[in-house]
Amino acid sequence: MRLRRFAFPLALALIVALPASLVAQAAVPRPIDWPAMQDEAVEALRQYLRINTSNPPGNELAAARFLKAFLEKEGIQAQILDTAELGAGRANLYARLKGDGSKRAIALVQHMDVVPVTQSSWTVPAFDGVLKDGYVYGRGALDMKGEGIAHLMALVALKRSGVPLTRDIVFVANADEELGSTGGIVFVDRHADLLRDVEYLFTEGGANSFRNGKLEYYSVGVAEKRTFWNRVTVHGTPSHGSRPTKANPVPRLVAALDRIARYETPLHVTPGVQKFFHDISRNYSGRQAAWLSDVTAALKQTDARDWILSDVYWNAILRNTISLTGLQGSSKTNVIPAEASAELDIRLLPDQSPEAMIATLTRIVNDTAVHFTTLLAPKPPFESPAGTDLFRAVERAAHERDPGAFVTTSMMTGATDRPSYRKLGIIAYGLSPFKVEAADEQRGVHGNDERLSVQNVGNGVRFLYDILRYAQ
Ligand SMILES: [Zn+2]
Repeated sequence: MRLRRFAFPLALALIVALPASLVAQAAVPRPIDWPAMQDEAVEALRQYLRINTSNPPGNELAAARFLKAFLEKEGIQAQILDTAELGAGRANLYARLKGDGSKRAIALVQHMDVVPVTQSSWTVPAFDGVLKDGYVYGRGALDMKGEGIAHLMALVALKRSGVPLTRDIVFVANADEELGSTGGIVFVDRHADLLRDVEYLFTEGGANSFRNGKLEYYSVGVAEKRTFWNRVTVHGTPSHGSRPTKANPVPRLVAALDRIARYETPLHVTPGVQKFFHDISRNYSGRQAAWLSDVTAALKQTDARDWILSDVYWNAILRNTISLTGLQGSSKTNVIPAEASAELDIRLLPDQSPEAMIATLTRIVNDTAVHFTTLLAPKPPFESPAGTDLFRAVERAAHERDPGAFVTTSMMTGATDRPSYRKLGIIAYGLSPFKVEAADEQRGVHGNDERLSVQNVGNGVRFLYDILRYAQ
């Protein structure tokens, strides 16, 4: 169907573009020295990790300058943008490697900021770019400066090799993903023109499952939960702790929180999650394989449900979740405070509404003195289709490396900047170019001793380079 639709314009385009296409055919891609590329990428990652972009305050302007200098050394023009809008020390960065424009562009999007560290919990300095035992250590190695360097070096490799490109490759680095997402939001609002021809986008949010040295599956992230943070507040009358009153807000808050903590959110299987479990069922045998192949049916049986929900990730993609986190009462033992409050980290499934969640919590708490205020409103729901040209390019590159492996589609329980870009109609995917041990992932992302193996750095650059070539 596609061929028939394009046959006539394509023939015309060929005639018009004949001299250019002859030139393109004459340009034989130059081979890449991959071991040297790995060394170069590791060195670039170490330098990137040394730029402390802990957010707050972010300080992404320094990171943007580093990326700009790197790109321009390779002859790829880059622009530092949005410095006034984002505030002191902050910036977004944009660059583009030109193709012949016959197909729409692919964007590689990263965030330059990282979450703060508790240095005392690390065994190495978090901002020194330490290279030890075959690993690069540092805050951001996994989230997401490692992926950012894979984006950078894959782009550089395409430029150096002179592979003919039908699609421009757009390179974007944003500020502030870890706190307010202002970098992505401002970039999309102010520079929609720079993204007008972008069909696809890769950023964080993919998760290849790699356990005890064994690859379970590749996954492309096509959906994410919606972060919806709330404060629960009870007002009372301040007084002295030596004379208890009914107007103490603390016990009332505690009673409300107890009801929320004991509330089990309903299970809800979205079509994408049903497919994910069906895909991964081939890694299991016996009744576990049967359960996963139809998770909706399995959740109706007690033994199957208990087993499935005992996995914290699986549990989180099957329901809205509520984590009670912050808690505030009096700052003095002998003072009954005027107010007591708690914070709730609520994560909604993509098709669930925040209003319905608050209505449910209000009903469960059943106390008119308890108030909910939104701390962080959810981003728009985000889902991307699989089965596209780019998805097939990922499958091809994955099968070349791991012939027995499959590529599934996953939902992320955390949040990324994808919803901001999806607003423009761009098909946004989470893609990890790495095979990171589950234990490293668990410990390092927003945790301690975050690290990425040297081998992953090199292989990741080449994996992304191949995907981008196959998508032309
Ligand atoms: Zn991240």
